[in-house]
This record gives sequence, C-alpha cells and structure tokens, in this order.
Amino acid sequence: MKLHKGSLYWDTTFQREGFAKAERKEIYDAVIIGGGMSGALTAYVLSNEGYSIALIEQDEAGGGSTSANTGLLQFSNDIMLHELIKQIGEDKAVEFYLSCKEAMKNLQDVAEHAPFDVNFHTRESLYYASTEEDVARLKKEYDALRKHGFPVEFWKREDIEAYFPFSQPAAIVTEGDAEVNPLRLCMGAIYYAYERGMDVFEHTEVLGIQDTEERVLIKTTDGDFQARAVIVTTGYAPAPDMTIPQKDVKVTYAAATQPIEDLSFWRDRMMIWETKRPYLYMRLTDDNRIVVGGLDQNMDTLPDSEEHIAKKFGQLKSELQELFPEQKLHFDYEWTALFGESTDELPVIGRHPLEPHVYYLIGLGGNGTVYSMLGAYLLRDELAGKSNPNESILEIER
Ligand SMILES: Cc1cc2nc3c(=O)[nH]c(=O)nc-3n(C[C@H](O)[C@H](O)[C@H](O)COP(=O)(O)OP(=O)(O)OC[C@H]3O[C@@H](n4cnc5c(N)ncnc54)[C@H](O)[C@@H]3O)c2cc1C
Repeated sequence: MKLHKGSLYWDTTFQREGFAKAERKEIYDAVIIGGGMSGALTAYVLSNEGYSIALIEQDEAGGGSTSANTGLLQFSNDIMLHELIKQIGEDKAVEFYLSCKEAMKNLQDVAEHAPFDVNFHTRESLYYASTEEDVARLKKEYDALRKHGFPVEFWKREDIEAYFPFSQPAAIVTEGDAEVNPLRLCMGAIYYAYERGMDVFEHTEVLGIQDTEERVLIKTTDGDFQARAVIVTTGYAPAPDMTIPQKDVKVTYAAATQPIEDLSFWRDRMMIWETKRPYLYMRLTDDNRIVVGGLDQNMDTLPDSEEHIAKKFGQLKSELQELFPEQKLHFDYEWTALFGESTDELPVIGRHPLEPHVYYLIGLGGNGTVYSMLGAYLLRDELAGKSNPNESILEIER
C-alpha cells in the first residue's frame, strides 16, 4: 500500500546507512513489526528494559508515514480536552491528556539519547479560532486546560495582531510542545536500540502471525521468526491478520517552502494551527523553511490526477500566503500522503483481545507521534503485567 507520493523534505536531511545482517535468534522476547515511528519508539523503550528484540520492516525503516510526518509534537489533541471529557468522562480524559504531556517529556528523552541530532526544539503552539463562532469553544478549552493545571494562555485578537502579520479572533497558546525532524527521531530511536543489541531485518515482509499458547510464530518473506510477544506497529497499512476497528483513512497534503532569510515576522518560532476542520497547520524548520499541511480529503488511496494534486498545492499555498501576505513564498517540496484517524479520535493501543501475545500500537490521528510514545510505555507496562491508566481508554475493543 503506497502511503505517500511527491518530494519529501525530510528525506533530504538524513543519510541512510542500513544495518548489519543479523544472526536470527531462536526466539526473541519481543518482535516488532514495522520500522516507523511507533516501532522505533517501542524499540527504544523495550531496549531499556533489557529485552531481546527484533524489528522487522518490509521496506526501509522510517520510509512509511513517518517520513511524511510534519513533526509537530503537542500535548493538545485534535479532540479538545473539554470535548474528550464529554466523550469519556473527566477522570479518563484528564488522565489521557496528562499522559500526552508526559509523552512530550519522554520524546525529549529519546531525542537527547539519540546517537545524532534529531532537531528537537521546545516550542509554544498558537491554536487560533478560525471564526468568531469558535471563540467560545476555545475559551471553554482554555478553562478546562487551566482547571487541570496545563500551561496555557488566552490571547485576544489584539495579542495575535501584536505578534503576527495576520489577524484572528482569538487563540490559546500552549507551552511545552516541540518540533522535531520526524525521520531523524525515528532513525535515532532505532539506532539507539540497535546499539543495545536489537536485530533489524529490513526488506522482510511479515505475511502472517500465529499465536500459540507459549509463543508467536511470525511468517515472513525471509522465513519464520519466533517470539514471546509480537508488537504490530504497521501504521495506516492493513495489519497482518488483523482488522483494526474504527479506522478511517484520508488523503492529506504537506509542503516545505524555500528557506526564508528574515523570520522576524514569526513570533518565537511558534507552531500554529486552528480550530477549523480540516485544519491548516505550520511550523519552521532548522533551515528556516515553513512546513505547512492540511486540506484533508475523504479518500482511501492517493490521488492519481496530477491536475488535482497541483490544484490542492495551489490552494495550500494561497492559504499560507493569506496569513503572510508580505512574504514571497514558493514550495520547494510538496508531498501528499494517507492519514489514518479513528472515529473517536483516540489511538488504538493494547493487547489483542483473542491473541494474548500479540499487541497493537496504531497511532491514528494528528498527534500520532505523541500517541506512539505513550503507546510504547503502555505496552511496556502490559508486557510486564503492570497496570497502566490508559489501558482501558485505548484498548482495541472499546
Ligand atoms: C502528512 C502527514 C503529516 C503528519 N504530521 C504529523 C505531525 O505533525 N505530528 C504528529 O505527531 N504526527 C503527524 N502525522 C502522523 C504520523 O506521521 C504518524 O502517526 C506516524 O508516522 C505513524 O507511525 P507508524 O510507525 O505507526 O507508521 P509508519 O511510519 O507508516 O510505519 C509503519 C511501518 O510498518 C511497515 N509495515 C507495514 N506492513 C508491514 C508488514 N506486513 N511487514 C513488515 N513491515 C510492515 C511499513 O513499511 C512502515 O515502514 C502526520 C502524518 C502525515 C501523513
């Protein structure tokens, strides 16, 4: 299943080196299927627990949705806290938001331990109201976040106008978010685990998994593997032997502009997004490009028509240009990609209800990297038989 097409910016920022051919162990404590962000962060966490691990990837690690990711890391979710409270109750919703905040710290920890720079920088996020009608919703969100101790400010129109060249009715500003180079973060986490003994098998497709009472048999294009536990992190592609419920696939568009010499018009290199759905979102890169994304469409395969794609990128550019009318912007890189969401806007993470040694980490949603991080710790706890507050919130059958 093709997950993206076009020119990917992050691919130009990382030189792949590959992995030495590993001697296959008779049985692993854990086999991770999929070498994207979810597999990488799981590998990072489990390698710190001293497990023997193998990571199996059908193509090259980091080449799936992870290389299309725009790298905004935020504790806030596509579903606002006050809306999640309505959906699952206050205790669970706050617990989940706190876990996303904790995941931000854990992502920083991965970034600091990666064997090379992953361009992780702590940033504030500006979440603006796209219309006057959305101001009340944003105010409610501000109140909910404040009540539960999250670091947030409320900005009126004049505050936004004082700091940015555009005007919007209101915004909330959250602290403690971050931007990252997602491909470098993914590869950094994999190399961290690899240096601690993880075996990596690229260009090896998993064809099926068979859970028995004591171990799991993993059938691949390069023979069989055995493990005490299997963690499926195959992203938006269909997982082997498993249909994830509530999965909804869309097509989305992202681009990186040319480097911009003078960024003084962009307050504190903040990350920016909005209340409209689908939302426009943007951030800066280390080499001073604007990365922008949005315009999601309900389609479950990548568009074929070059004309359609060109029209969408034209629209993306004019929406960006409208915010920054004095800048002469052009896109150096443009890519379109599939994007998975769940109907309740939460990721799907946990043990398979019928296969006790098989676990899933499917980081659906716009906050996928944060979900992959909190999911890696949730699965660590499940593997060790420890309870985790997110278990019942994110379980596969909910
Ligand atoms: C345009 C775009 C922008 C995004 N922006 C953000 C953002 O700003 N912030 C954020 O947090 N998230 C963002 N996301 C979401 C983020 O990219 C995903 O959450 C993340 O990449 C998911 O990682 P993953 O490891 O689950 O999937 P993937 O990166 O797709 O990795 C899955 C891997 O599994 C492999 N695989 C699949 N099937 C098999 C098999 N049978 N055998 C072996 N290997 C297999 C695939 O080849 C692939 O490498 C964005 C996504 C897109 C598309």
